Parts: sequence; structure tokens; C-alpha cells
Amino acid sequence: MEEINRKSLLYRSGLGFWCINHVQGCSHGCKYPCYAWMMAHSHGRVGTYTEWCKPALVANAETLLRKELERMKTKPGNIHLCLTTDPFMYGYPEVASLTLRLIGLINSYGISCSTLTKGIMPVVLADSIEYPEQNSYGISLVSLSEEFRRKWEPGAAPYSERIGALRELHDLGCSTLVHIEPYPTPNIIQQDLRELLDAVDFADEIWLGSWNYNNLAKQYPGHKEFYEEQSAILSRFLAIRQR
Ligand code: SF4
Repeated sequence: MEEINRKSLLYRSGLGFWCINHVQGCSHGCKYPCYAWMMAHSHGRVGTYTEWCKPALVANAETLLRKELERMKTKPGNIHLCLTTDPFMYGYPEVASLTLRLIGLINSYGISCSTLTKGIMPVVLADSIEYPEQNSYGISLVSLSEEFRRKWEPGAAPYSERIGALRELHDLGCSTLVHIEPYPTPNIIQQDLRELLDAVDFADEIWLGSWNYNNLAKQYPGHKEFYEEQSAILSRFLAIRQR
């Protein structure tokens, strides 16, 4: 796997939370398209989509992060992995291994982590000696159709593996989250949100977001009402399981 060096790693994102991205590019190659790819391309960091799908590890990530955390007078309460790449990239054990070392490092400063992946989270994350903080582990999941995944998230982990790894962490007492975003309208795929919710009903948190990255969703007549209905389905689902 290629390696690069960076000048800095830890930053506060435009969304307000602290974040690190210790890989450049992402082999999952999502075709919604991927917002991180569009940004990297427009800022000249990555030339082609093919290049984007060949990830490069930030070789000095641990050294940088340690220095940055040492320098901070007020340390963040939580650090997110990642916004512009995937921390558990499918088929890249080097990425998962670096991610685990970074989570361990962050936790050693008393800082928790939140993760979001379309890969497979290793079960070792449930080891509370290695990872002693209240971390939150999340997957992105917008469909149960493998045909959809192959078309829109070609390099990402199959859904059953993604869900299975999250469930395992949940069963071992970890805090888990499912991020259903970008949720497709019926002109992209015909599916029932309730089936997806049933598949992840164990997760502590479930979030839903609309398909915003291209115009396909807006081309669906009544797309606003569609998303209102899906939000209502999620709210009902969450209310029922709280009873
Ligand atoms: S998993 Fe995330 S970072 Fe990777 S290509 Fe897909 S949207 Fe982009």
C-alpha cells in the first residue's frame, strides 16, 4: 500500500467536531458520488477517480497525532474517524491496523472516539483494556440489496458482513450506531425502510439522511413527502422499541 506524509492530522471539521483522516483516498469508491472525492479532486489533491480508489496511508499519522494532542491545552472530548476516508476500509488490513493504533492512542489521553465505516469493524474494539473510553462504533448502511451495493458502493463490505461485525460489538457491550445516509428514493431503488431497520434493530442509535449528492432523488416526484414519510417511519420504530 502506498504511503504519504502529512503536516497535520487533527482538525475541527466544518460540522463542529474534531476529526482525523489518516488515509488519502478510499477503495470503496462510492458513486453517489463521494463528497470527499469531489473535494479532494477540486482541491487538486487527487487527479482521477481511479487514483482516489487507490488509498495511501499517512505514514506519520501516529507521530503527528501524539504531538498535536500533547500541544493542546484543552483537549477535545471526542475525535471522529473519519470524514474523508474510511477507517476500516474493506480488504485493507493496514488501514484497520493503523486505525486501531490511533484509537488506542486517543483513548490513552482520556478522549473517546466515534467511528463510521462501510467496512468491517474488528471485534478487538470491544477490548476495554486496549480501548478504555466510551467509544461509539458506527456503520453507514442505506440498503440491504447487494445489487445496489455493487452499483453504488462497489468496493465496500457486503451488507451482511458490515451488520454482523456491528452486531458482534453490540453483543459485547459496545455502543453502536447506524447511519442511513444517503437514503435512496424509489426511482433509485424500490425498498422498504422497515426491513432495513429490522436488520439493525440492536443498534443504540439510528440516523437517517436524504440523498443529496446528485439530482436523482430530486427527480422523484414527491421526494420531499417521501423523506418526511421515511422520517416518520424511523420515529415510530424508535418510539416502539423504547417502550
Ligand atoms: S466509504 Fe466514504 S470516503 Fe469511502 S468512497 Fe464511500 S463515501 Fe467516500
